[in-house]
Amino acid sequence: MSTFKAPKGTYDLIPPQSATYLAVREAIAEPLRNSGYGYVETPGFENVELFARGVGESTDIVTKEMYVFETKGGDRLALRPETTAPVLRAVLESNLHKAGNLPVKVWYSGSQYRYERPQKGRYRHFSQVGAEAIGTEDPALDAELIILADQAYRALGLRDFRILLNSLGDKECRPVYRAALQDFLRGLDLDDDTRRRVDINPLRVLDDKRESVQRQLAGAPMLRDYLCEACKAYHEQVRELLAAAGVAFEDDEKLVRGLDYYTRTTFEFVHDGLGSQSAVGGGGRYDGLSEMIGGPALPSVGWALGVDRTVLALEAEGITLDIPAATAVYAVPLGEEARRVLFGTVTELRRAGVATDFAYGGKGLKNAMKSANRSGARLALVAGERDLAEGVVQLKDLESGEQTPVALAAVADEVRRRLG
Ligand code: AMP
Repeated sequence: MSTFKAPKGTYDLIPPQSATYLAVREAIAEPLRNSGYGYVETPGFENVELFARGVGESTDIVTKEMYVFETKGGDRLALRPETTAPVLRAVLESNLHKAGNLPVKVWYSGSQYRYERPQKGRYRHFSQVGAEAIGTEDPALDAELIILADQAYRALGLRDFRILLNSLGDKECRPVYRAALQDFLRGLDLDDDTRRRVDINPLRVLDDKRESVQRQLAGAPMLRDYLCEACKAYHEQVRELLAAAGVAFEDDEKLVRGLDYYTRTTFEFVHDGLGSQSAVGGGGRYDGLSEMIGGPALPSVGWALGVDRTVLALEAEGITLDIPAATAVYAVPLGEEARRVLFGTVTELRRAGVATDFAYGGKGLKNAMKSANRSGARLALVAGERDLAEGVVQLKDLESGEQTPVALAAVADEVRRRLG
């Protein structure tokens, strides 16, 4: 073992478990690709100001959790704690929104960094697959994104998740509510930190997990009672479209989420088998974000699903994904000449698209056959000097144990026939 360990709050994805992570990413991406979303990739770090302005000066993410550093050139950068602001930055910078084809629909997949207190399901490095639909206000777009996330989770076999839905209002009605909520909160018995939060971001107080705070919140004004007619009608349409698609959701008036940019539709996917870190994904509408980072008005909606927690959700439900064995054929040469010849066959098979591996390092037969079995291959190709002298290779079925000689020139065809 080396003297180095993965940094606190991080872990490595290693085979064979890493295959599940790849499969989860793929399962989330598939419905997006199938619905007009194009792939986007942005740097792992951005100018720190992008997040300060985009995610919000008062959020935990910006005040406590960002990895901020200064480059040798004097730039202040942050490892990305989320990717919505970077994606919007990239769309604005490349003028995609001016190409006359709104909404700009994109998806991404990648690492996020937050200096959080690590626990199961909460890491300092984690991975999200996300989708953003930029530049259009249409309840069908909000519904589309929720439906696609639901579809991805169902395709993975997940059942014990719930969709929480809320509307956070818009720039007309939210300020009125915010003021009413502040009035109410200022009459409560709260600690200094929470009082400060009341001044900067009172909606977040609703989200406070402490019993002592929750008890005092009974009777707090609810946003639902302050939504303007336009927001109400919009939200009703989102709800109707989801219901029509057969996607179940729960109205959750207290759902506010930890990022400042959300407006109107807000939602979270929670999984009931995960304990305290139960949110597997979340998102919503962020109609004001573009202007907050210096762009034109571009009403948008998106989500991010956590890959790590989705894998934990699979474990909680006892789901093992059906991941095909990485290797179909394993070649075992016995001796130098066989090594040369079989290596050629391996290359030929690989070029023909057959997943093939090779017993490297001059292993003896017993050891090599163990490796063949461990690889999950269905077939082994074994050849020694006598076989080569006869111009054949032994083709062994690793399930039945049955072994037959096959003419060297016919091996590739025979392998493909057997693998169907
Ligand atoms: P957020 O960007 O905070 O809305 O989070 C979206 C999703 O990312 C969450 O539902 C989680 O699945 C995942 N996530 C957020 N923070 C973490 C973390 N520290 N560790 C693991 N997953 C996380």
